[in-house]
Amino acid sequence: MTSVLKLSNFIDGKFEQSASFIDGFDPSTGEVWTRIPDSGSNEVSRAVDAAKAAFPGWSATPVQQRSQIMLKIADILELRLEEFAEMESRDQGKPVWLARTVEIPRAVYNFRFFATSVLHELNRSTVMDAACAINYTVKQPVGVAGLISPWNLPLYLLTFKIAPAIAFGNTVVAKPSEMTSLTAFKLCEIFNQAGLPPGVVNLVFGVGPRAGDAIVRHPDVPLISFTGGTLTATKIREATSEMCKKFSLELGGKNPAVIFSDADLEKCVATTIRSSFVNQGEICLCTSRVYVQRDIFQDFLGKFLTETRKLVVGDPKQQDTFMGPLISKAHLEKVRGYVDIARSEGATVLCGIEPLELPEEKKNGYFMRPTVITGVDDDSRLIQEEIFGPVVCIVPFDTEEEVIRRANGVKYGLCATLWTQNASRLHRVAHKLQVGTVWVNCWLVRDLNMPFGGTKESGIGRESARDSLEFFTEEKTICVKF
Ligand code: NDP
Repeated sequence: MTSVLKLSNFIDGKFEQSASFIDGFDPSTGEVWTRIPDSGSNEVSRAVDAAKAAFPGWSATPVQQRSQIMLKIADILELRLEEFAEMESRDQGKPVWLARTVEIPRAVYNFRFFATSVLHELNRSTVMDAACAINYTVKQPVGVAGLISPWNLPLYLLTFKIAPAIAFGNTVVAKPSEMTSLTAFKLCEIFNQAGLPPGVVNLVFGVGPRAGDAIVRHPDVPLISFTGGTLTATKIREATSEMCKKFSLELGGKNPAVIFSDADLEKCVATTIRSSFVNQGEICLCTSRVYVQRDIFQDFLGKFLTETRKLVVGDPKQQDTFMGPLISKAHLEKVRGYVDIARSEGATVLCGIEPLELPEEKKNGYFMRPTVITGVDDDSRLIQEEIFGPVVCIVPFDTEEEVIRRANGVKYGLCATLWTQNASRLHRVAHKLQVGTVWVNCWLVRDLNMPFGGTKESGIGRESARDSLEFFTEEKTICVKF
């Protein structure tokens, strides 16, 4: 029996006890291990008031001082990396090694990156010689930013919103997913230790339809940065349709890998396995449709299956575990449901449904093997819908035109991977894929200075040093006659 951790909201620099809670589950055991405040509009209103009160002071704080506080946040978080990695793994299910090597270091980097990039921003100016006037711009923070983040990369995605928001002088009311709130709660201790003034960042925990909805509807929250599902984004836009809010929406994906017969097969198989199954396939950028040119299809499939069957699924604490449990029982059932659909449609499930041998204490965890399916039609729900789990469909193709059409034949447009050694073809195809990012002969290699975001129903807006500046500030033009 594990002890249960009770979280509290963080408003105006203080931890506030809550009257009601919801359960947070350890996905590897199915046991309750955290109790999360079940916040609603009252808590959100107090958080917005605190953020509003902190805004004049924080936005007028010299940028070097804001930067120093953020660098201190990064330093303290880095010192506590191991502790945060263990918490993140326990809360979300990813292996500890993945949290230790990718997610928490990236959260540290988010603070460092925006703390330093903000120091180098310049304004625009022009001299109108005929009118004897100078025009110049100033970029001003917008106000209270409402930040809503999902459960799949909890600290990484939350800090990718908090860091630019406060670097550019905004104050924040944030809500992480109720399924993964622990590291966000612990981060609030670091905010206080680093000397972040009270009210600059406020964390309100709870479920989306109550706490999240109260943030997006609040009239004093003029900008919303949301990462999550496309359906939730639709609800948020409907809820705010009569208000003029600024939105950044990073949404779902159905990302193709397009593999031509001249691909470096060893690299391609290894990377496509990682892009399909890392973090249990619960990354918006994970590959879920693999198109392989027909003359190498069987070769690719054989190698892919051999390597996939070697992946260890189990205890997230073990160093050799590649995949931990899925986030929740409901999500596991949803993902397994897609495998049932595949079988009912006559597709072939090549691996993934064999029983797992788990230790006694993990028997109620939400584990599932990496699953590979072939023989799926283009209009199947498996090809069209975001599954967000360790399920990948592998499909043969013949020509370049055909694969571009099929890769583009879904409502999403987040990212794609493309495998070919032919320089002309890689540029030609990359230009035609309807996605925000194309990785060629690699995956997940991107400089934070470059724009990130989706096309079609995968989102609105881009994130990068420059794009976040655009989003979290408003540019004003001042025209002065000599
Ligand atoms: P959801 O859309 O279910 O939830 C995202 C966040 O929104 C959570 O904090 C949730 O709260 C909150 N929320 C839910 N309903 C509302 C509402 N009515 N008003 C305001 N907030 C609400 O997504 P998931 O958490 O399930 O995350 C998975 C999704 O996120 C996938 O579609 C994935 O592709 C996408 N994603 C996109 C990324 C990108 O950069 N494009 C990156 C990572 C994920 P709660 O969960 O507490 O109810």
